[in-house]
Amino acid sequence: MKIMKFGGTSVGKPARMHEVARLATADKEPKIVVLSAVSGTTNALVAISQKLALGERDAARLAIDALETQYQNFIAELVHTDAALEKARAVLQEHFEFLHIILRISWSEALNKDILAQGELLSTKLFCTYLEEQGLRYALLPALDFMRIDEHEEPQLDTIRTLLGAMLQQHAGTGLFVTQGFICRNARGEVDNLKRGGSDYSASLIAAAAGASVCEIWTDINGMHNNDPRVVDRTLPVSRLSFDEAAELAYFGAKILHPASIWPAQQHNVPVKLLNTMDPGAEGTLITGDATAPGAKAIAAKDGITAVNIKSSRMLLAYGFLRRVFEIFEKHRTSIDMITTSEVAVSVTIDNASALPAILEELGALGTVSVDGDQAIVSIVGQEIASDTSMLQRVFSSLEGVEIRMVSYGGSLHNISLLVAADKKKDVLQRLNKGVFGL
Ligand code: ASP
Ligand code: MG
Repeated sequence: MKIMKFGGTSVGKPARMHEVARLATADKEPKIVVLSAVSGTTNALVAISQKLALGERDAARLAIDALETQYQNFIAELVHTDAALEKARAVLQEHFEFLHIILRISWSEALNKDILAQGELLSTKLFCTYLEEQGLRYALLPALDFMRIDEHEEPQLDTIRTLLGAMLQQHAGTGLFVTQGFICRNARGEVDNLKRGGSDYSASLIAAAAGASVCEIWTDINGMHNNDPRVVDRTLPVSRLSFDEAAELAYFGAKILHPASIWPAQQHNVPVKLLNTMDPGAEGTLITGDATAPGAKAIAAKDGITAVNIKSSRMLLAYGFLRRVFEIFEKHRTSIDMITTSEVAVSVTIDNASALPAILEELGALGTVSVDGDQAIVSIVGQEIASDTSMLQRVFSSLEGVEIRMVSYGGSLHNISLLVAADKKKDVLQRLNKGVFGL
């Protein structure tokens, strides 16, 4: 069994969906196709939900109508026989009727989740109308019937395995399964999701649950690149990564993979392949449990970072101080990315500053606190780069004259992270591209 996950741009136009069908039926290996929403749809649904939350019903209605028009145009190119068009219209009617009904209900967090789920429900059902028109055999496995998260929003892999296993069994003999990424049910049985970009996570969980031979993540780029292609002019795809390298890159900002998506595949040793729907023959990136050749593989950057510095003479020769600092962040469910300490100060970075005012108030009891907003973490990732003695020199000499606010080195053997002001990020990425990769 193989998993093929297609992202928003891969199903973003009728012609792209046709290509997905072609790729999914190119060989006889049984597969589960996991689809994202058509690109732009989840953002549109978020906007609709926000309008409703603010009580702006007319604006929400207009946005729903605009989305519906877009989908009417979509199906007109997706399918052509009268029977298929009729089915596709029925799909749109069902989901847009739902969106119109909610205009009359009061907004809640649970309703928000229902609204956001419409994107993946639409993309998969429309894809199925096309498969049917093409006379292809398939079974649609509703993700809401098997994807489960617990009360801590953690996926319940054992339950997923049992439920999915039973569904696959029920359709034994079918070689092509279709399901939704992103959406799931929570411990209360309500519709929920795996957070924005969560379709990769769905795919990896499904791969682990189904014991898949490979989890293919199809996007619109030839795999993971050595640097951010949106920021740096010259970048190259990386053909091999280990799970550890890929996890570091995803966590520290590589947009191609959702940060949580690696662990289920890693734990169950399912190789992950990053492939390009626009260029299916390209090699892409293969991620496995095997260590790769030592050396830098890629640089990633994460924006929106806040640095918090706590200075206290009480830290001098004291033990237990860091525990008290960490407890405050833990209490406010704020995770820390980087940390450096000196004898009298500790600096940490966070990427979610929503609880910052409360955190600062409590940290104030421990010492003098200062905050630097608008920072970026730049991470250079690669097998054992922390033991490459020339690497630090190359990194620092290429960044001569740039103020580096923090350095984290050796926490993982595979990562060197630097904290710089966000407005220096582009320059830093470009200089490192030259200094580390010679590009
Ligand atoms: N459609 C969802 C989003 O845009 C999930 C995904 O595409 O991964 O966040
Ligand atoms: Mg994505």
